[in-house]
Amino acid sequence: MMKKNNISVCLGDITSLSCDCIVNAANQSLLGGGGVDGAIHRAAGPELLAECRTLHGCNTGEAKITKGYHLNAKWVIHTVGPVYSGKPEDVRLLASCYRGTLDLARQYQIRTIAFPAISTGVYRYPLQEAVSIAVRTVTAWLCENEEYLIDIIFCCFDQKTYDSYRYFLADTH
Ligand code: ADP
Repeated sequence: MMKKNNISVCLGDITSLSCDCIVNAANQSLLGGGGVDGAIHRAAGPELLAECRTLHGCNTGEAKITKGYHLNAKWVIHTVGPVYSGKPEDVRLLASCYRGTLDLARQYQIRTIAFPAISTGVYRYPLQEAVSIAVRTVTAWLCENEEYLIDIIFCCFDQKTYDSYRYFLADTH
């Protein structure tokens, strides 16, 4: 585990973490899918899907919150990353996922939150670019919200992703 201020990086399954909130890299339907989304729904139980049905989906770059049900996290924030297209809009939408999630976390007084590497799986965002955006956006948000104390965990499912976060976090001050 690498720690930098209130940002840390861990390697493992996000569904096993005990924290106030875990973030789901969802799709627009919010009705479950593959990757981390499927894992979160399996671990949280069918009550999560039932609550998600009441939300009527989510636009790309936006975020919605539910309870965590059988997870060790009290809350799940579902955010929809962009499917990588190579257009400049991808950057704005991915950054908007991180900002929107953190704004919502603050509204709910969440103090520990774990993010997966949004859009870097099925949505094919190039890993280094996505990680660089994640680190820059979260770091900027923390600076803008200096008086709000929150611990951020970047939860990586594989070593390559973990190494990439460590590289980009070593760059920030
Ligand atoms: P997206 O559709 O946003 O690309 P994916 O779930 O396909 O979402 O992948 C996003 C990232 O989540 C990838 O780095 C993938 O390896 C990772 N991931 C998949 N399952 C888990 C899990 N259980 N815990 C943490 N990260 C996971």
